[in-house]
Amino acid sequence: MAASSMLSLTSQYWKLLAGLAGLLVGSIVPLFAASGMSWTVGTVIACVGYAFTLLAVRCPSCGSRWFWQASLDASLYRPIFRGTACPACQHDFATPR
Ligand SMILES: [Zn+2]
Repeated sequence: MAASSMLSLTSQYWKLLAGLAGLLVGSIVPLFAASGMSWTVGTVIACVGYAFTLLAVRCPSCGSRWFWQASLDASLYRPIFRGTACPACQHDFATPR
């Protein structure tokens, strides 16, 4: 687990995991007929999970939606997982306030 990413420093890692969980559940559970989940419901759950991650993970300093920005510019994924400073406002979350 990335110990010093912007996600963990701002305590937003769970949002990524929750979104991924929705994406996986919505994509995999409908494969099993016994689950009773239709593809329509699965697709909705997957989309909601994805949208949740895009919209819920925000910079506590400037409000920039990191995954939304990264979906538009893939080069931003690296600072989200490796960096400690917001790509939008340059606020460094590794240094104590
Ligand atoms: Zn920011």
